Amino acid sequence: MTILQGESVRLRPATLDDVPELARVRATPEVQRRWRGGDDMVAAVLEDFREQDTTAYVIELDGRVVGWIQWQAEEEPDYRHASMDIYVDPAVHGRGVGTDAVRTLARHLIDDHGYHRLTIDPAADNAAAIRAYTKPTRTIPAKLRKALEARYPTCGVRGCANDQFLEIDHVVPVADRGCTEIGNVWRLCSHHHRLKTYGGWIVIGQNGDRDLVPPDDPDPP
Ligand SMILES: [Zn+2]
Repeated sequence: MTILQGESVRLRPATLDDVPELARVRATPEVQRRWRGGDDMVAAVLEDFREQDTTAYVIELDGRVVGWIQWQAEEEPDYRHASMDIYVDPAVHGRGVGTDAVRTLARHLIDDHGYHRLTIDPAADNAAAIRAYTKPTRTIPAKLRKALEARYPTCGVRGCANDQFLEIDHVVPVADRGCTEIGNVWRLCSHHHRLKTYGGWIVIGQNGDRDLVPPDDPDPP
C-alpha cells in the first residue's frame, strides 16, 4: 500500500505500533461520540484494523499520528462509489487536517482507483470541507452496513425472501432530514425499494418489525 502525501498531512498504512496513539485519539469525547467503542479502546482500534474490505491509513502531521482515515468500495449496482470515514485528534482541529486528509485520499481514489463518486459520513470531521467533495446524502458507515446485513439477510418486507442485490433504504428519506442510523434504515430488494420510492408504498411498524404496504392498505399505520 502506498503512502499518500497531502499538503501538510501524510497518510500511511497503520501498524500495530500506532494502536496506543489511535486508542488515545478514539477515547477523546469528540471522537467517541461518533465512533463509539466501550471501555477498551485498544480493543476497539484493533477491531478497526480487522475490518474486512476496508483500507485504512493513519494521518500523520509533523511526524505525529493525529488520526485515522479509511475507505471501502460500495459495489451496489448503479451506485458504485467509495465511502470514506475519518477521525482526527481534537487537539489539532482547526488546522485543516481533516480537509487535507480527505482531499488527499479523494484524489487517490479518483486518480488511482477510477472512482467518480465519493461519499463520507456527513458528521465526520470538518463538515464544510467534506461538502466540497460530496453531497451529504446517504452514506452508510461500514459498521452500520454490517449491522444491517446481519439484521436483514433478506428483503425487510414480510414474506419477501429475496436476498439478491439488497438496497439500503432510509425509512424517512434523507431529503426529509431522515438520519443514517439503525433506527431509520433497512434493506429492501430492488422491487420493493421501487414500490416505496416511486409507488407510494408506506412503511409500517417499528424498527426491527417493519413492513411495507400499498398506499390503499385498509389498515394504515
Ligand atoms: Zn422484497
